[in-house]
Amino acid sequence: MKFLILSRDGVINMTRVEGVRKPDEWAPLPGSLEALARLQREGYRVVVATAQPGVAKGAPRMEMLNRIHVRMLESVRNKGGQLDAVFVCPHSADAGCSCRPPRPGLYAEIADRFKINLSSVHAVCANGDEADAARAAGAQPVILGDDDRGASGTAARYGSLDVFIDALIAGKLES
Ligand SMILES: [Zn+2]
Repeated sequence: MKFLILSRDGVINMTRVEGVRKPDEWAPLPGSLEALARLQREGYRVVVATAQPGVAKGAPRMEMLNRIHVRMLESVRNKGGQLDAVFVCPHSADAGCSCRPPRPGLYAEIADRFKINLSSVHAVCANGDEADAARAAGAQPVILGDDDRGASGTAARYGSLDVFIDALIAGKLES
């Protein structure tokens, strides 16, 4: 199955220092929606995995986070793309949950829900913690940008989702 896991902030949409707290603060990165449309035409199923620790503090509240995601799903769909699901870790950084990267729970949950082996699945991550989580769940991480949080030094790096997806579709990924 053609399957891809994407992080959210810094991969699909712009990051904000305070986090995205309401729908009109959600703004796509240049080229990301068009790239998702190309994936759709290629027959990929795409899911999002994102840690949103602000939810634990009520900013945004879960109901507002859902509205933010409705805006994201509609924005993607309006450009011809499709996101199949959004998996969220809503816990604070010190909660010790199993789903906050670098722990692999969020990615393992995706594998379980879709009944797939992640060994041939790429996960597009925004930082090294996410890359470590994806790898621990058996997926193949790549990192966008130059955020060096986390221990991972071996994931391939790409400048944007747009550039990665072009390489993926062309079968020209760095190994
Ligand atoms: Zn969690």
